[in-house]
Amino acid sequence: MTSDQLKIPKATAKRLPLYYRFLQYLYNSGKQKVSSAELSQAVKVDSATIRRDFSYFGALGKKGYGYNVQYLLSFFRKTLDQDELTKVGLIGVGNLGTALLQYNFTKNNNTKIVAAFDISPEKIGKKIGEVPVYSLDQLEEVLEKEQIPVIILTVPASAAQGVTDRLIRTNIKGILNFTPARLTVPPNINVHHIDLAVELQSFVYFIKHYSDHSEKMDGKGKKDYNR
Ligand code: ATP
Repeated sequence: MTSDQLKIPKATAKRLPLYYRFLQYLYNSGKQKVSSAELSQAVKVDSATIRRDFSYFGALGKKGYGYNVQYLLSFFRKTLDQDELTKVGLIGVGNLGTALLQYNFTKNNNTKIVAAFDISPEKIGKKIGEVPVYSLDQLEEVLEKEQIPVIILTVPASAAQGVTDRLIRTNIKGILNFTPARLTVPPNINVHHIDLAVELQSFVYFIKHYSDHSEKMDGKGKKDYNR
């Protein structure tokens, strides 16, 4: 990433893949321009936020014309490094790990899980989808050989920090932590925590308590969960 891209606020950066996927869809269906109102409806982000997000990349839109789809797409592709494949490793081939391996993010053409690791002898040596499952004993060796910078962690919570302590000593840059455990890492490693149980619980809470139409509307009578 360049220093320019680092200035994009985190909330904006989070929405980029959302924009990117919709723009790709528009491009594939032959559309050449899109207004912020159309984008807003499709990605469920209010159009003022979209305009503000896009303003971080310079004045990309023309008044009364909208945004040029191809231009935006190539811009986002560069920003998201879509042209460059990032290899991903997965540790813990249980139920969730297996599901992620089978899914393997085929909708993104820039990320691919290339190796999985487990301690269970029944799993080691098998392939899930196209991904080989290695013994955890081979972790450092395979990460180095495959040049893997990102790890998806789907081990039991009790094993998470132990595995992380080993990862810290490798060249990995980030961990997508699907375990409920909070991980301790040095500042050179990024951790993104996704606790699906907590996400679902807070979503259900949100639906129960904020279903009165007064909160978080996107201006078109739709609720905006993306903010
Ligand atoms: P399953 O039904 O396959 O056990 P699960 O998701 O309920 O799935 P968990 O107990 O969460 O199982 O474990 C997930 C996976 O992590 C299992 O395949 C287990 O063998 C593996 N695992 C456990 N400890 C470690 C570890 N220290 N390093 C790598 N993998 C581990």
